Amino acid sequence: MLNDGEKGAVLQRDRETYGIAPHLPCGLVTPEILRKIADVAERYRVPVLKITSAARIAMLGIREEDIDAIWDELGIKPGSVVGICVRSIKVCPGTTYCKRGQADSLGVGRVLDERYHGLELPGKMKIGVSGCPNQCGETSFKDIGLVGTPKGWRVYVGGNGGTNPRLGDILAQRIDTEQALALVDKILDYYRTHARPRERIGRMIERLGLDHMEDALGLGAEK
Ligand code: SF4
Repeated sequence: MLNDGEKGAVLQRDRETYGIAPHLPCGLVTPEILRKIADVAERYRVPVLKITSAARIAMLGIREEDIDAIWDELGIKPGSVVGICVRSIKVCPGTTYCKRGQADSLGVGRVLDERYHGLELPGKMKIGVSGCPNQCGETSFKDIGLVGTPKGWRVYVGGNGGTNPRLGDILAQRIDTEQALALVDKILDYYRTHARPRERIGRMIERLGLDHMEDALGLGAEK
């Protein structure tokens, strides 16, 4: 039996079969990728394909002996679905496609995905990017959330779902894309330095205070 996350697979409820989730940055797919996933699923008799809340296509009910061959044939990296790392980066269509978009959420999401997806951290981390304050990227309850506004990015930190949900705190507003990306980097550095093992960033903020983070990141004047 594999450990959770080994070979990019997670044991299912039947304690026998596995689920895998190919990495689809920002939830974008092409007809070729969809066709490949469908063809491989048919070839290996994968019983269920589930579109997840993290904009992945999970392939469920896979036999252990088929996992290596399925990854080989897909030719797509596994998404980081378990583990203490940057798990998912949920991104709305933003100015690329949405008529209400006020910022390039897809462009920023792609950069964040390339830089951080799977990055190991003290606790699990989910990131969201929304192209306007409607927040279709569910940014207020991500560990880090970027929201586009007419005056620049608003950055939330410390949101999470789960059994003890928490809305994120606003850490910065009216900053440009370069500043927002630099701020994400600084938040991650701060989190690495100050979090206890497996502590989500929101709980760390409750323990240390948002002021502590703002001071450490030199943000007093920007809010
Ligand atoms: S958050 Fe705004 S830009 Fe993004 S999909 Fe929703 S309405 Fe469109």
